Amino acid sequence: MSEHLITTKAEIQACTRCRRITLHGISEGLTATVDPAPIARADEPAIHANGIPTYSLRAGRLDYRDPDIPPTDPAPILATHICPKLPEQGVFPI
Ligand SMILES: [Zn+2]
Repeated sequence: MSEHLITTKAEIQACTRCRRITLHGISEGLTATVDPAPIARADEPAIHANGIPTYSLRAGRLDYRDPDIPPTDPAPILATHICPKLPEQGVFPI
């Protein structure tokens, strides 16, 4: 394996923006930050349709999920963390 495609163990880390708990690691050389709660397999196509990458959690590592991964893959599926929308400040209804 090339050093450019390393995958590290994911670590628990608070999101630097919203402070929610995430899992953070390197997957095939790219940074991955995911929500720790697995998603339902049936929800994955809609998440991909929104351009949000998903990962399989295997032995503590985040493996990038190609959309063609067989549905029989038993590993938990984790979606890339997206910060929740915060209320807009300074906008008041008139
Ligand atoms: Zn966040």
